[in-house]
Amino acid sequence: MKEIIRLLRIVRPYYWWMLFAAFLGFATIGSGIGLLISSAYILAKAALHPSFQELQLGIVGVKLFGVARGVLRYIERLVSHNTTFKILSRLRVWFYKSVEPLAPARLLQYKSGDLLQRITGDIDTLENLYARVVAPPLTAVMISVLLWVFMGSFSITFSIVLFCFHAAAAAGIPFLTGYLNRGTASQISATQTELQTKTLDCIQGIGDLMLFNRLDEHVKTLHALKSRELKLQRKQALIQRSHESLTGLLMNAAVLALLWVLAPQVSTGAVNGVYTAVIIIAVMASFEAFLPLPDAVQHLEANATAGKRLFEIVDAQPAVTVPESPEPFPESHSIRFQNVSFSYPGTYSAALSNISFTVAEGEKIAIVGPSGAGKSTITSLLLRFWEPLQGSISIGDRNIDRLDPEAIRTNIGLVSQKTYLFGETIRKNLLLAKPDASDGELKDALKSAGLESFAARLDQWAGQHGMNLSGGERQRMAIARVLLQDTPVIILDEATANLDIITGKSVMQQLLKLRGKEQAKTLLVITHRLKDMAQFDRILVLDNGEIREQGSHHDLLKNGGLYASMWSLQHQISPPELINSS
Ligand code: ADP
Ligand code: MG
Repeated sequence: MKEIIRLLRIVRPYYWWMLFAAFLGFATIGSGIGLLISSAYILAKAALHPSFQELQLGIVGVKLFGVARGVLRYIERLVSHNTTFKILSRLRVWFYKSVEPLAPARLLQYKSGDLLQRITGDIDTLENLYARVVAPPLTAVMISVLLWVFMGSFSITFSIVLFCFHAAAAAGIPFLTGYLNRGTASQISATQTELQTKTLDCIQGIGDLMLFNRLDEHVKTLHALKSRELKLQRKQALIQRSHESLTGLLMNAAVLALLWVLAPQVSTGAVNGVYTAVIIIAVMASFEAFLPLPDAVQHLEANATAGKRLFEIVDAQPAVTVPESPEPFPESHSIRFQNVSFSYPGTYSAALSNISFTVAEGEKIAIVGPSGAGKSTITSLLLRFWEPLQGSISIGDRNIDRLDPEAIRTNIGLVSQKTYLFGETIRKNLLLAKPDASDGELKDALKSAGLESFAARLDQWAGQHGMNLSGGERQRMAIARVLLQDTPVIILDEATANLDIITGKSVMQQLLKLRGKEQAKTLLVITHRLKDMAQFDRILVLDNGEIREQGSHHDLLKNGGLYASMWSLQHQISPPELINSS
């Protein structure tokens, strides 16, 4: 329930719209009751053969309420849909704004199917927040009050009797069905999430599933999940329909009870016989306002579950804090890590421990080390995907936690290990880096990245996730993208790992030659393959989260430390031959 209150607080600007729409709903049902009352009045009166004059009032009522009901229903639909969409768009914007600071670090902990279900399914569930959860009880209350006043004008006893039945319909039965259906909506939501996740897994991994002969097994799991979902939905529908029948039963019981109270009063002449019909019809019609309540109970739980799942994400602490008023990005792009330590949440070993190094503007640095040494973590910290636990990182003598993360990312281009290409054309994938780039610029970037052949295929579809391209081509697309972005600092994280030796070498040559407007670009190349290392100004050797050595290729070989042994291992050369061959 507290989730519903929190959700309602978010849509506070639309309270008046909600109230207005609920009032229109009340007026519509009220007109319906008016129409039936007028008709009942005419019929009962006509049986007594009155003059036409005496029926006039009823006829006016039929005309008025008949027209009003149609017109009001139309306006009510218009206003309540408008309100629903306003609410939905506000919730969507709210959710997006809350999720954005969590990317990418905090979102890693969610499975993509789960995240998709929350972003689409759960938000869509909230579409019903107003129309099915908030509006029906409001309308029911207004109709009840109207009827109590109407009944009270005859006798207070009638009001009290009606009140008892209305209370049972509004609170008693919903409470009972709510109790019987407790947890069903959240179980349905959990099953749907699992189904979504498994379906996505099945589609994305269909190749592997077929290779290992596991497709049938996976499909069976999907079947089982779907039938669990259907079973739960059946249970929910059954209880809900029985709720509707119970409401009908209550309506008839209310009619009987009132007849029982009315009969003596009619026989004593305290109530005019004609009004008996009017009163009974009014009671029956008033229950129309209670019919949507079973749905409201069910949607209340579904909305609370959806809200809870959304708040779970929204309430996650971002991995980095963004300064309220960021300082301007420094002129100098020198980078400095000072005693930086970091470990990923939920892990015991440090990914980086007490790392210190500097990179001057225009320097070409290689960061090498075995897989898992912490090389990519350095990049994630520098780009502010994560925050160091200890120590500081600065760009141009300004601590990066005082800079706008977006400014950092527009100044430091990254080709990461995991290149993501969109299921779009090659051109659109490139334009991501520079939306206003001309075809000439695109072609130049492709050429520098060793993808001349793509220049003629700019409008070719890259496939879902870029799957129509080979691993090496995807990497070169990523390099072309970062070249278009034209940032003063470029980081390549294993960016040439999938390229053949000759292409890899020529791409690296192009990158090393890159110049910005005024000076050479700073280049940080992360690799575990020690090739062409002599071209770098300096090499940082990382192992187990620590910088073990740093220096030029020749110095490091001479030192005969970790670097030298890695180099000899990779080149199958014994240490004495090392220095001569390099
Ligand atoms: P490298 O790039 O040198 O191969 P990484 O920087 O990616 O190494 O990883 C360093 C260590 O941190 C590894 O032990 C890895 O398992 C761990 N690690 C990397 N990313 C995560 C993550 N998101 N959550 C938990 N541990 C991680
Ligand atoms: Mg890595």
